[in-house]
Amino acid sequence: MFAKTPEIKMHTLRWLLTCGWLLLIFSLFYDPISPWLTDPNNTLSPLRIHPEACVKVQSICLKQTPYALGARLFWTIIVPAAIFILLVFGHELWRRICPLSFLSQIPRALGWQRHHRRVDPKSGRTSYELAKVKKDSWLGRNYLYLQFGLFYLGLCIRLLFVNSERWALGVFLIFTIVSAIAVGYLYGGKSWCQYFCPMAPVQKIYGEPGGLLTSKAHEGERQTITQSMCRIINTEGKEQSACVACQSPCMDIDAERSYWDGITNSDQKLLYYGYIGLVISFYLYYYLYAGNWDYYFSGFWTHEANQLTTLLSPGFYLFNKPIPIPKLVAVPLTLGFFGGGSYFLGRKLEKSYKNYHARTNQSLSKEQIQHQIFTLCTFVVFNLFYAFGARPNINLLFPPLLYFYDVLLVVVSTLWFYQTWKRSPDLYSRESLASRLRKQLVKLKLDVSQFLEGRSLESLNPDEVYVLAKILPGFTGQKRLDAYKGVLKEALEEGYANSSNSLEVLQQMRQELDISDKEHVTVLIELGIEDPDLLDPNKQRTRENQVRLQSYRDQIASMVGSKRRRTAKGLGRDLLKVVQKEKSIQDVFPKDPQTMRSLRREYAITLEEEERIQASLDEDTNLLNRADILLNQLQELFERYQALRQPLLPDKVAAWTLLQSTVQQKQQLIVKGLLKILKSLEYHTEATRIALTLGCLASNVLPNLLEDETFRWHKRFSPKIISQLIQQSNRATDTIPQIEADVIVSHLEVLLQEPDSLTQTVSLYMISQLDIQRSQELAQQLLDSKLTLKALVGETAQMLLKQEVQPNTAPAALSTIEKLLYLFGSDLFSSLKTENLVELAYQAQVKAYNADEVVIEQGKKGKQLLLLIEGEAQLQVNLDDGEVIVESLLPGQILNEMEILARTEQDATIVVTAPETRILAIDVDTFEALLCRVTNFARKVLERKSLLLQQLVQQNRGSSNVSGSSIHVKGAFKE
Ligand code: SF4
Repeated sequence: MFAKTPEIKMHTLRWLLTCGWLLLIFSLFYDPISPWLTDPNNTLSPLRIHPEACVKVQSICLKQTPYALGARLFWTIIVPAAIFILLVFGHELWRRICPLSFLSQIPRALGWQRHHRRVDPKSGRTSYELAKVKKDSWLGRNYLYLQFGLFYLGLCIRLLFVNSERWALGVFLIFTIVSAIAVGYLYGGKSWCQYFCPMAPVQKIYGEPGGLLTSKAHEGERQTITQSMCRIINTEGKEQSACVACQSPCMDIDAERSYWDGITNSDQKLLYYGYIGLVISFYLYYYLYAGNWDYYFSGFWTHEANQLTTLLSPGFYLFNKPIPIPKLVAVPLTLGFFGGGSYFLGRKLEKSYKNYHARTNQSLSKEQIQHQIFTLCTFVVFNLFYAFGARPNINLLFPPLLYFYDVLLVVVSTLWFYQTWKRSPDLYSRESLASRLRKQLVKLKLDVSQFLEGRSLESLNPDEVYVLAKILPGFTGQKRLDAYKGVLKEALEEGYANSSNSLEVLQQMRQELDISDKEHVTVLIELGIEDPDLLDPNKQRTRENQVRLQSYRDQIASMVGSKRRRTAKGLGRDLLKVVQKEKSIQDVFPKDPQTMRSLRREYAITLEEEERIQASLDEDTNLLNRADILLNQLQELFERYQALRQPLLPDKVAAWTLLQSTVQQKQQLIVKGLLKILKSLEYHTEATRIALTLGCLASNVLPNLLEDETFRWHKRFSPKIISQLIQQSNRATDTIPQIEADVIVSHLEVLLQEPDSLTQTVSLYMISQLDIQRSQELAQQLLDSKLTLKALVGETAQMLLKQEVQPNTAPAALSTIEKLLYLFGSDLFSSLKTENLVELAYQAQVKAYNADEVVIEQGKKGKQLLLLIEGEAQLQVNLDDGEVIVESLLPGQILNEMEILARTEQDATIVVTAPETRILAIDVDTFEALLCRVTNFARKVLERKSLLLQQLVQQNRGSSNVSGSSIHVKGAFKE
């Protein structure tokens, strides 16, 4: 709700609140005015004291005198109001108005922040990088424990020192402000709020996954600036992000994402469960100390004289007797005991709830179970808090107002509970992806209005977006892939997915858009070609970082913004020349180091990032960089391709072919990308180098691509470039260099990282054929990894771990991957998609025979399609005149294809002629179901059938003799 409130308004509000807060702190030291409101003679003031009333502490009536209101105002109005704001409006309001957060930004505003000096070893350039809390540092890992500890300490300090001692409270608040400013100097961003503020745990509890009226950062237009993200107003008066990525995931950018990210962490459990105990014990202690509730509800504790003198007096008063434990000990003891106890009970409750779900077979994920418990905790603790918080003042209201206040709290918390209980990580992810898809639909400019009946695309829920995507007439084929590509790109840029888990993360979207795993892999490679950094596994991408870099980029780009072109000065004018290709980027930046330095510091930009972003502004430099990265990738792929063509293990031809085709597919996509770059740089001095290298490294795919009529490359390039490409391509010999087995294994290990499960499985399997020990290590790593493995990969890894560590020991039974490879090796099934091959492999049975055994007799009807995989067999046809025609069959051949397709009896008896012959048998029903489902496969089968018929017709024309091969097609005539 407040995410879109202009920063200028919030800035003013922040100033007002900060001034108010500073005034309040000042009043804690000197306040000649407010005591007047508590004067017993001031009959108009509801806050006046009643000297005749007796408020007892440990059976002694306390003396009442007029007092200054600063402490009372702070503890009974400001603090409770913050909790209400958090639950209703969320952190997106609170974190934008919090005075302490504002004051912690003073060093940033003054440009006084700690920087680390860094010298680039290559260029010798010195840079100063903004100090940030590292994610893997002690603080980065334990900040929630620290904040919770500080919160506990803060509550103890409050009960012991600063509840009513105004000067102590003043000192305490000033100390907090100084600490916040110091942290603002030591670390960039809002590190005070993220890593130190003792109130941050409370903000998390009430503000996550979102307040009642909080906006959703993962939905809508997906703007750069969301929720309470750090922002500034630039010189043009526009709001822009000031994020330096001080934490990831950041609550200020997307509270719900941050919530789901850490929901099962043990620090979150301590927070939610321990907090309830702290709240209960904090209020209960007033009773335990005074021996009655009057002390708390009268608000006397906010102006009790000489609070510090009670530190060593009895800390408990129970059953009208003081207990001789000093208050100094009693307070931390009570809070610690209750905090620890509630944490213990919370863990017990969690365990019982999980057990209940397991017993009743409810399919809730562990995150969702945890979420439901946390939601319940927050609901309970909110109402518990307001049973006490602010009551000393609220109880002074007229009864109808008091009643309204109570009803309001219950209604608000119930609505929040209802809204929050339904959330789940899956729903978040579905909404998030649907929002990305919505954005792509807008980009494609499809006419959706006729399907929306007056509604806007924005107002559609995720299910409606997917339904719309399915029924939109123009949204087919390439458009779907383009939209999917856009979604994937954004997901990769924001670190929502990476190259290895994107297949899994976007699975649901692929199902909705009818996009296959193979198409996903192709799109992924294309994205890698457009931006090689995107798939770099060493680069940890986060939304925070993306925002930071984008903001820096926008800042530079804004210097050449269209409005300012005519008057562009200094750096802006130079940048304009770069865009207009009148200058190189390198000529521009060193001239204005001061501007660049301050920009770099503002966004905590490192030297590498600066170089990359600057290079991306200059199109030629950008293209040349991309070309070099792609040529390097091509070199690796070429070496991999050579490694996979080694004549080692010739009996695994299908596996090698499959892996080679994976590599070739990648090569083709990269070569296409390089040809496009080469076209843009055709007259650049580097064009010849690129063309020659490309010709040399892509000799196995380039000639076909150049001839491809879709792209007509041979016509688009100048004859010089074409001759350079072809000349190198022709020079590359077909001789395969000798490559050691361990090098092949290393290439297979790279293929094991591919997203496609079939490539992964085959790579692992082939490693086992070359080095069983290494394959077992890798299998174990895969099983131990947190990635969700496809069944085939997991099964193969398990199988390998059970194998003896002896080279070339084949397991007795065929594994699924081996069956799959036999299927892939047969001409009939080789074109099937991975998922269909896997399915068939699971269903196929292996049948073993000895020499002279009959597989099926002539005249009988076969119930299974038979694929010879090992050994030998013969077809024997008994003719009416007693003559027997014989045809030998070899591994890889289907024995009864035509009979199964035509559903006729066997034309020939199939007899095994070699010992240890094995046949892969597929049930007719399975085969026919596949034909019905996979149209491309059915078409291929039909083509084969027609081809065989044509062959038979020709043979019959050419010879009156019945040849062996005609045996196969007899059934076809019967059909
Ligand atoms: S990550 Fe960015 S938006 Fe979030 S607090 Fe840090 S600087 Fe601000």
